[in-house]
Amino acid sequence: MFGIVPKPLWERRMPPDERNRIQLGMRCLLVEHPSGLVLIDTGAGNKENEKFYDIYGVENAGNPGPTKLEDGLRALGARPEDVSLVIDTHLHFDHAGGNTTRGADGGVVATFPKARYVVQQGEYEYATHTNERTAGSYFAHNFVPLAQDDRFDFVIGECEILQGIRVIPTPGHTPHHQGILLESDGERAFYIADLAPTSAHLPLAWIMGYDVEPLVTLETKRQILKRAVQEDWLVVFEHDASVAWSRIAFDGKTYGLASTV
Ligand SMILES: [Zn+2]
Repeated sequence: MFGIVPKPLWERRMPPDERNRIQLGMRCLLVEHPSGLVLIDTGAGNKENEKFYDIYGVENAGNPGPTKLEDGLRALGARPEDVSLVIDTHLHFDHAGGNTTRGADGGVVATFPKARYVVQQGEYEYATHTNERTAGSYFAHNFVPLAQDDRFDFVIGECEILQGIRVIPTPGHTPHHQGILLESDGERAFYIADLAPTSAHLPLAWIMGYDVEPLVTLETKRQILKRAVQEDWLVVFEHDASVAWSRIAFDGKTYGLASTV
């Protein structure tokens, strides 16, 4: 998760377990929009095998489920059929795995039966043309059944999806990764996804080994974090196990949480 950052540095911030794994969240964001409920990213879903769950230590089984995502919706008084729009930042398994669900008959169905799904067109193409390096992150059952069912609205570049909900290309982690900028009552929040998966990734050089274009990530971060400070964005961290969101500050040298820089 920390790329070239030496372990003696990152383990002080995130102590690993005996198998070198760190605690991460999979934080999806639900937006109450006048047009309906909008869900940003969908977590890891429930379709993988035991080996997969063991390797990554995924704890996503719901009670009653199927996953913690549906439990979370239920706690807010919402059902999967109430979600009218799903926006995927990108199609890696830990972001788009909950797009689809394995039904009782073993078949794969859309988790949100009445929703349209939005993703960058380039990301879909990238996800369906994998190579040896990228294949481990893209599982076709998370998105191909949706395309076959004509549930995707593919977008290209920056665009306003709904009033106050704008997708902004943030390339580097994948070439067509996108962040989501939310505006409401004069305030802005930004779902930064894997551009800075945790608050520990705010320093510009703290870039994941998973990123396919790390130097592109660097320039995207430089640009986006500058805006985050200037425009006082509330940045939402998808993978941070403890910090859900924060304003960002720059101390002249590095970026960090507004409260700690
Ligand atoms: Zn990713």
